[in-house]
Amino acid sequence: MHWTDEALQGLDTSRPVIINDSKTPSGRAHVGALRGVLIHDAAFRALKERGVDVRYRFGCDDYDPVDEIPFGQGEIWRQHLGKPLCNVPPPPGSGATDMADHFITEFWSVFADLGVTCEFYRMRDIYRTGQFNEAIDRILRAAPTVRTIYKKVSNSDRPDNWHPFQTICENCGRIGTTEVTEYDGKEVVYECKPKLVEWATGCGHRGKVSPFDGRGKMPWKLEWVAKWATFPVAVEGAGEDHNTKGGSRDVAAHCLKAIYGREAPLNIPYGFVLVGGAKMSSSRGVGVAARDVANFLPPEILRFLMLRTPPKRQANFEPTHEQLVKLFNELDRAQVKTFRDPKASDDEKRTYHLCEVSPEGDFFACEFGLVLALVQMPHLDVSAEFEKIKGSALNALERGHLVRRVHAAKVFLENYATADERMSLQATLPPAAAELSVAQRGFLHALAGLLDSAHWNGEALQTLVFDAARMTPIEQRLGFAALYRVLFDKAAGPKAGNLLAFLDRAWVKKRLLDVAVDQVDLWRATAEPVDKVAEWLKENAPAIASKSVTTHESGAVGAAEIHITMTDGKKHLKRLLVDAGGAVEARAQARAFAS
Ligand SMILES: [Zn+2]
Repeated sequence: MHWTDEALQGLDTSRPVIINDSKTPSGRAHVGALRGVLIHDAAFRALKERGVDVRYRFGCDDYDPVDEIPFGQGEIWRQHLGKPLCNVPPPPGSGATDMADHFITEFWSVFADLGVTCEFYRMRDIYRTGQFNEAIDRILRAAPTVRTIYKKVSNSDRPDNWHPFQTICENCGRIGTTEVTEYDGKEVVYECKPKLVEWATGCGHRGKVSPFDGRGKMPWKLEWVAKWATFPVAVEGAGEDHNTKGGSRDVAAHCLKAIYGREAPLNIPYGFVLVGGAKMSSSRGVGVAARDVANFLPPEILRFLMLRTPPKRQANFEPTHEQLVKLFNELDRAQVKTFRDPKASDDEKRTYHLCEVSPEGDFFACEFGLVLALVQMPHLDVSAEFEKIKGSALNALERGHLVRRVHAAKVFLENYATADERMSLQATLPPAAAELSVAQRGFLHALAGLLDSAHWNGEALQTLVFDAARMTPIEQRLGFAALYRVLFDKAAGPKAGNLLAFLDRAWVKKRLLDVAVDQVDLWRATAEPVDKVAEWLKENAPAIASKSVTTHESGAVGAAEIHITMTDGKKHLKRLLVDAGGAVEARAQARAFAS
C-alpha cells in the first residue's frame, strides 16, 4: 500500500475534506518546514485523484507573539518582543507591510515553485473579521474544562482563574505578556504582567476589553481547536515534536472532544528533516532556509527529498557531492522505472508522480554527476555533450531540466563543495600520480593502446576501460581510480566513459602515456602462478572463444601472455612470469594453455 493511502485510511471522504497546515512567521523558514507542506500536498493530490471534494488551506500564524529576535536581526527588535508578529515593522529595506508578512511572503513564494497549490490565510484576518468570535466565546466559557485537561493530559498547572485567551495590551501592544482572569460573556479582565514570560516584559497595565474581532488570541493549542472546529479541519499532520503523549496535539485533541464533542482531525505524524545529519534549529540559524534550498535544487528534487520516504521516517538533506549525486540518480532511476519498466509497481510510479511539479511524461534526464563534471570543463558546451549522449537534440522540456541542473551544479560548487569535491581537468600530470601502483600504470598504458581504434562515445569508451582492466590485469576499481587521478587528480568521479568522450583523443592518449611504467616491474606485479591460470582457464573453458600467446623478454626476465577472447567478445589477459632459466619451460606451458 502506498504511504498516502495508508496515511489517509479511515478518513471520511463522503463529505468535503479540508486539509490544514500553518506556520508561525517568526524568522526565515527552514527547509525542514517544507516537509509538512509537501506531505499535506501529497495527501491533497491523492484525495483529488480519487475525486474527493478536497481543499488544502495553509495559514500564517501571525497573531503569535515575537518570542525571540529573529536570527540575523538586530537589537532594535528587542522593544517588540511580546507583540503580535503582524504588529511589528518589517526589517529595514523590506517591501513587506510587517515582520510576519516579510517572513511568510518568502516562505509562500517557495510553494509555487514546488507546484503546491493551496489557499493561504492569515490569522490576523481570521481574528479581525470575527471568524473566530464564536469559538472564542465557547472556549472561554469552557475555561474550567481546559484547565482540567491541561492538568490531566500534560500535567501542567494553571491558576484557578486562568482563561485560555490573551488580549493585546491596550497600553503597550504586547500579547505574549497578558493574562486573562475573568470572562463575563462580553468582556475579559486582563493584566499585562511584567514577569509572565522570560522573553518579554509586560507593562503592568490592567484592563477590561472585548475578546472579539481581533483584540486578542487563544493560546495556540486552543487556536488549533478553534481551527479544527470552525473550518472544519479533517486532516492535519504534525511534526514528531508535537505528537508525544501529553504533547500539544494530545492536549488539543482532548479539548476539541470535551468542548465540541468532535474527534481530532486525521493526523499524519512526520519526522524531521536532518541537514547534514544534524537536526536543524531555526533559533540558532543553523541549517538552510527553505527559499535558499529552493533557489538551489530543482523543485522535483526537493519534492523527492521530502516525499520519497514515508512521513514517519526522517528525511536527510546533505549537500555533499556524494549525497547530491545519489539523490538525483535515485530520482532518475525512479523515472526510468516509471516509464520504461513494465515491472514497476504502482507504488513506485505513484511516488515518482508525487515528485513531479506537474505531469510531464518521460524525457531524457541529464546525469547530475556528469553535469557537475561538465560545468567544470569550461571548454565544453554542456548541452551539446548531452545531445551526443542522447543521440539527438534535447527537446524544450529536457533543456529546461538541464538548465536547472546546471544551475544546481554551479550553486553547489560555489557554496557547498569542499576542495575535494571540485573537479578540474588537470593541465599537466598531477604530482599524486607518482603514487600509482605499477599495475595501475600498466592499466593506463593498456588503455592508451586501445584508444586509437576506439569509437569515441561514452558507452564504447566505458567498455574499453573495462577491457583495459581485464587486459592489464587489474581490479576494475583500481583502474578507474588511476584514470580519475591522472585526469582530475581525484580518486573517484562520474562514469568514466562519458568523461573520456568529452575529451580529445590525442590529449587523453598522451596523458595516459605520461605515466611511466617499468615493464619488468609490471610483469612481476601482475603475473599469476601457473596453477592459478590453469584453474581459471578450466573454469571458464565453456565461455572462451579463442586464445593466443605472445612472449616478451627484457634482459634475463621474460613474460608469456595468454590473450583470451570470450564468446561475449570480452577480452582477458593472463600473464606468466618467466625468470632466467625457466623461460623455455614457461613458454611451453603458456603454449600448452593456448592450445
Ligand atoms: Zn502592556
